Amino acid sequence: MSSSADRRDEVPEGIPSTLDWVVMCADMATVHAAQRYACIVELWDDAIADARRREEPVAFVERSVRLEVAAALRITEHAAGRLMGVGLALLRRYPQVWEAMSRADITETHATIIVDGLDQLDDVTAGLVAEVLSLAEELPTGPFRRTMKRIVDREQEATLAEQHAAAVAHRHVRVDAGVDGMAWLTAHLPAVEANAIAGRLTAIAKTLDSANDERTLDQKRADVFGDLLLDGETDALPENARGIRPTVAITVPALTLLTGDGPAAQVDGVGPIPLDKARELCGAASGWMRVLTHPETGVVLSVGREQYRPPADLRRLVTWRAARCMAPGCGIPADRCDLDHTTDWHHGGTTDANNLAPLCRGHHTLKHQSDWQVRAKPGGALEWTSPAGRVYLVTPERRIPTFTTDPPGPPPF
Ligand SMILES: [Zn+2]
Repeated sequence: MSSSADRRDEVPEGIPSTLDWVVMCADMATVHAAQRYACIVELWDDAIADARRREEPVAFVERSVRLEVAAALRITEHAAGRLMGVGLALLRRYPQVWEAMSRADITETHATIIVDGLDQLDDVTAGLVAEVLSLAEELPTGPFRRTMKRIVDREQEATLAEQHAAAVAHRHVRVDAGVDGMAWLTAHLPAVEANAIAGRLTAIAKTLDSANDERTLDQKRADVFGDLLLDGETDALPENARGIRPTVAITVPALTLLTGDGPAAQVDGVGPIPLDKARELCGAASGWMRVLTHPETGVVLSVGREQYRPPADLRRLVTWRAARCMAPGCGIPADRCDLDHTTDWHHGGTTDANNLAPLCRGHHTLKHQSDWQVRAKPGGALEWTSPAGRVYLVTPERRIPTFTTDPPGPPPF
């Protein structure tokens, strides 16, 4: 028996099996679906050209073509409109995706996931289209949909960072005349700094509380503001008001900081901030990372043959890494799965992160009761070989971060 890796993407030899026919028919259906999109767009183009030639308004052309397609295909107008929308996107905006579909390199479902994802972005580069296309050629629809969502989030986050950088360029301090001998001093600042300044003014103003002082908190804040800027130091203030430094609470999910993937960093009372800014605020020192991720550093990654049942922290880590059942295309959340020894314990399998994977009850049973073969690959991936000899690589949703051994640095605040 040749190694399973050799068989990947191999065209079956000899007389096609029934499974080969299923695959070929599905590929032909995809090719025809691509042609259908091209024809619908052509129909639309012709209708618009026709209306222009007759100098008629083109406003109702779309509606008319939609009804035409819906009636001819015996589908709803909503479904026909969707076909037209996806068709236009594939033919006009993402022709590479349409070409891949025409070669049956991706399925129609993959193509619609790409269109729906990319259409959420303002700016789609050729490089980004190539990136999602190569993923679509590899991943089943379930994992691909989740990956596409992460890519869209990543791209939108990049936009947030760019917008912030552009806005920072417009920072300024301005004086506007008021009435009764007053004036407005306005500073347009990055939100983090602005909140830090307000926080420090309040903290200092609160130390000025004494029985003889009848100023309101607002008045004290305004006075402290003037004292600090004019004197440049807090010597003018009472002893207990000196040395007060601002504190801004910032929440950065540890894994967002490590991998750039996951929920955005949030500043209390400000909202999401760009990841670069969050890294800068967190000092980005390896010591800080360690502090953030400390609960994970103690995880035992292997107990070898000592113990069949994985310790609780190893179980959590393996479940977190996979996020879902590790069968091809399965979407069942890992916390509802069994934890399976990929190489059976009775056949010498070890209890370690590289030999444990969550499988839903159905796929767990299938693995043990059928001719499917499953092998563990590096990084927690599983290689499934079907009874027909087809090979599928299932990679986990996340990778286990590697932790530095640098000594912890000082806290960032
Ligand atoms: Zn499953």
